[in-house]
Amino acid sequence: MTHYTGLIAHYQDRLPVSATTRLISLGEGNTPLIQLHHVPRLVGKDVTIYVKYEGLNPTGSFKDRGMTMAVTKAVEEGSQAIICASTGNTSAAAAAYAVRAGIKAFVLIPEGKIALGKLAQTLMYGAQIIQINGNFDKGMALVKEVATHAPVTIVNSINPFRLEGQKTAAFEIVDELGFAPDYHCLPVGNAGNITAYWKGYSEYASDSATHKAVTPTRPVMCGYQAAGAAPFMAGKMIDNPETVATAIRIGHPQSWDLAWNVQRESNGWFDSLTDTEILAAQKLLSQFEGIFCEPASAASLAGALRDIQTGKIPEGSNIVCTLTGNGLKDPDTAISQCQDTHPVTIDASLDAVKKAILDAM
Ligand SMILES: *Cc1c(COP(=O)(O)O)cnc(C)c1O
Repeated sequence: MTHYTGLIAHYQDRLPVSATTRLISLGEGNTPLIQLHHVPRLVGKDVTIYVKYEGLNPTGSFKDRGMTMAVTKAVEEGSQAIICASTGNTSAAAAAYAVRAGIKAFVLIPEGKIALGKLAQTLMYGAQIIQINGNFDKGMALVKEVATHAPVTIVNSINPFRLEGQKTAAFEIVDELGFAPDYHCLPVGNAGNITAYWKGYSEYASDSATHKAVTPTRPVMCGYQAAGAAPFMAGKMIDNPETVATAIRIGHPQSWDLAWNVQRESNGWFDSLTDTEILAAQKLLSQFEGIFCEPASAASLAGALRDIQTGKIPEGSNIVCTLTGNGLKDPDTAISQCQDTHPVTIDASLDAVKKAILDAM
């Protein structure tokens, strides 16, 4: 067995690196593709659902795929500092890869609207955190402006190397299954990830060396937003996005045109879910499959389940849902959803423990 050293090394012939490029890696990628066993039974439909568990990347989200590539290229081009606006996960990833590279990271985050785990990581990695009185979209606009005045490389998903790294998730899925799924479901914020997956599937499908001669060679792409932050449903940018799923609390998606292209080319669609539906899917996944993702990630499964139920996604389909981030990122939202299952407190005696077990059987 060879030592796995990250997705750039693994897919280097499909990425913009050369033999002499210094790879900035934390061993990202190669995440589990887990088939759901109980959820399809619960919905009573004959479908095969896999989840791509991106929460097992080094900083706990898929952002590491893009960040290894963006920071590798920034360093190759001689950059000494990177900058991003973030709802949390991009800042954690940028901070970690900057440490790995030995360069500086500046991150703009919306004050009070970033999940606790993401803040903890970013603080620990030692990034320069700039909190702003404004949302992600405001931060993004500021980052774009400041990057024209200061010697910093933007590592948001408008950096094309981010999407290059992220497309490898589609490679992994096809490599593992031996075919592309019929449907691929993703949460959509800036829409970089849905664009990157489509790029990955498309590159594999057009390459006869890896083309495994199955149909369809590319999935229908389904993008799901939170109802309070659903510019793709509105058909226009929105100004005050709100959702419990802070990772997709975005009103001005940066990959707007690219994502509409994906929708058209794949015959896919966008749809939206209420926060209640998103949180219900998050809990379902935890309680019936043992898989803990953050709220934004659960939008992919929530959307898929609704579309399976209505028949929009037909029986017999192979479906992949990307779980973009780890549930541990947002402990507050998780705990607040489990008020009815608060731990019981008892005496520290054998009798009391025995009674507690018997009561619960
Ligand atoms: C960044 C992020 C998203 C949204 O991805 P986009 O590429 O912005 O559409 C979804 N879920 C999580 C957990 C994220 O960190």
